[in-house]
Amino acid sequence: MNALLLAGGRVIDPANHLDSVTDVLVKDGKIAAVGAAASAQAPPGVERLDAKNLVVCPGLIDLHVHLREPGQTAKETVATGTAAAARGGFTTIVCMPNTSPAIDNAGTVALIHESAAAHGRVRVRVAGAITKGIAGEELAPIGSLKNAGVVAITDDGHCVQNNELMRRALEYARMFDLVVMDHCQDYSLVTDGVMHEGYWSTALGLRGWPAAGEELIVARNILLAEATGARVHCQHISAAGSVQLLREARGRGVPISGEACPHHFTLTDAAVAGSEKFWNQDGKAIYGYAAAGEEAPAWPSYDTAFKMNPPLRSARHREAVLDGLVDGTLEVLCSDHAPHCDYEKEVEFDYAPFGITGLETELALSLMQLYHTKRLGLPEVIAKFTINPARLLRLAAGTLSVGSDADVTVFDPNREWRFDKTESASKSLNSPFFGWRLKGKTVATLVGGKKAWVEETELAGV
Ligand SMILES: [Zn+2]
Repeated sequence: MNALLLAGGRVIDPANHLDSVTDVLVKDGKIAAVGAAASAQAPPGVERLDAKNLVVCPGLIDLHVHLREPGQTAKETVATGTAAAARGGFTTIVCMPNTSPAIDNAGTVALIHESAAAHGRVRVRVAGAITKGIAGEELAPIGSLKNAGVVAITDDGHCVQNNELMRRALEYARMFDLVVMDHCQDYSLVTDGVMHEGYWSTALGLRGWPAAGEELIVARNILLAEATGARVHCQHISAAGSVQLLREARGRGVPISGEACPHHFTLTDAAVAGSEKFWNQDGKAIYGYAAAGEEAPAWPSYDTAFKMNPPLRSARHREAVLDGLVDGTLEVLCSDHAPHCDYEKEVEFDYAPFGITGLETELALSLMQLYHTKRLGLPEVIAKFTINPARLLRLAAGTLSVGSDADVTVFDPNREWRFDKTESASKSLNSPFFGWRLKGKTVATLVGGKKAWVEETELAGV
């Protein structure tokens, strides 16, 4: 028998409205008991993990990860991406289908499932494509993707521009009870924009990616979700107008939802102008970096680690995304972990690919901007990483209910640490947060009761 007692932690399970200092017993890969029953039922001599002053919660879920398999394994693989996920506290991740070839058929879905079974450190679920080859022209075989086990469909990285085609996709998705996740970007408005259209794009001479380019597609998705009854989830929301549109639509019962990524609610477009410009103004609002004398991380202007899609926006948009997270308009937190090789990013800003890695920093940044700033309590932050994405994707995960899989994350919400390149498990190093002092750190990640990752220093006595 394989048993482990997580002793004396602050156990937070939003799905069961549980928040109390107690024990959790894991046995044979399942949650065997929570609360007083846990130590009572623990077998004699059970292995203990002292979780005093730590949070014990359901294993975190990231529904927006680029694992780059198949075809782009120089950037990331199932092995390295899931290792990064485990370090970040994630027990389930959903990989995006914009690979090479795209995940637009049952065979490729099976390939990912096989690779995940062989090399995955954590659970990998697959999002299938909406259109063949993610070309936006012809629907992918949505029923066959569903049969192959996809948990959602999306053309992420791209956006279906043809509204009629999107409507058909939603009608099919509804038949199969799949959520349609959308990267909201109107190509005619955005054209070849590389950063937020505003003061800094003008000052830096870079082509602008206007907020309306996202808001327009969010509005389109709301109308189509309302017309078809299909569930639509808007990915990586970055613009104030998008948050307001979602708020209104959800208020009248439209089946629409949204997610936010830490870079969009931590950084702003001023970061593209270099660290000095950023810290002088927008950076002051970041938790932990307001104190005088703090030596803040430095970077040059036009640093491609700050190029992502959608782009970092102005402080007003950052505040609107935070407000949307606080009032529940945005119900999911995720990374949009998007690894790229050094040589791809080490070019002029215009030519660099969009995207940054995020699995290892998203929990800390979310705690800093939401919990440590007292915008949200720990249960609310944890819900956005666990039961909310699980419900959206219809996953039997995201809770510590007795009998469920023992996917558990143990983290220290108050631990300060510095994110160092030598400690990243990802195959790529395109993060803007290297060298940052962060607050909140995973110390153990259990998948099916097994240790997917344990921080040696913290749990050396285990
Ligand atoms: Zn995207």
